Amino acid sequence: MRRKIVAGNWKMNYDLSETESFLSSFKEQVRPEDVEVMIAPAFTNLNHAFKSLRDHDVKVVAQNMHQCESGAYTGEISAKMLLSVGVKSVILGHSERREYFNETNKTLAEKVETALKHEMAIIFCVGEEEDKRDNGTYFDFVKKQLSEGLFHISKEDWKSVIVAYEPIWAIGTGKTASPEQVQEMHEFIRNTIQNDFSEGVAEGVPILYGGSVKPDNAKEIFSKEDVDGGLIGGASLEVESFMKIINAFK
Ligand code: PEP
Repeated sequence: MRRKIVAGNWKMNYDLSETESFLSSFKEQVRPEDVEVMIAPAFTNLNHAFKSLRDHDVKVVAQNMHQCESGAYTGEISAKMLLSVGVKSVILGHSERREYFNETNKTLAEKVETALKHEMAIIFCVGEEEDKRDNGTYFDFVKKQLSEGLFHISKEDWKSVIVAYEPIWAIGTGKTASPEQVQEMHEFIRNTIQNDFSEGVAEGVPILYGGSVKPDNAKEIFSKEDVDGGLIGGASLEVESFMKIINAFK
């Protein structure tokens, strides 16, 4: 049985008091024991979230980090800084980072290397733009993202990796990939991992779907064989909708 995971990516939303108010209500909720929950708030709120959630079985995740250990990189955050505030997991390769901050597969490969060196867990995002979906090159595109950004890791390292498939055309747009499209890509990702590593590795890797997951579509998406949960943007910002998505596994 693979892990079941629901992770909330808050992006550039919620200041400290909004974070406090979400978390104080979220901590009151009764959650299914077999679903791992993760929340990725802004850098400024990571330490607060870590302290607030440490006895509540919710992992606090960073939305990004720099690949270098330290140095003249104004505005950036290192692995060591994250670890020093209790954060041991990081999202890498989100499409907004790739698009607005020019993160390439090569940069991401370096970030992956740094995260693993520091024994951090990684949620590695892949996903195609709409034109690739339309012209039928989406499998090749995702395969390239995986092979150039992630596949330099060792078999052992996979225990620290979660893959998130997030088709760009479905992020924040209200357009969701159909459960069949999601399953087809997740199966492709798992087969690609199997070909380059092993069946054991592929079978154990959690693959999350992200892209306009909402309380009303989560159950059907999560019911697909190769879908192990979701990376949730907009709907993770309200306790009620986030809880409904977490409970969609029941
Ligand atoms: C995301 O940004 O990771 C995401 C999936 O966003 P949304 O759920 O809002 O589409």
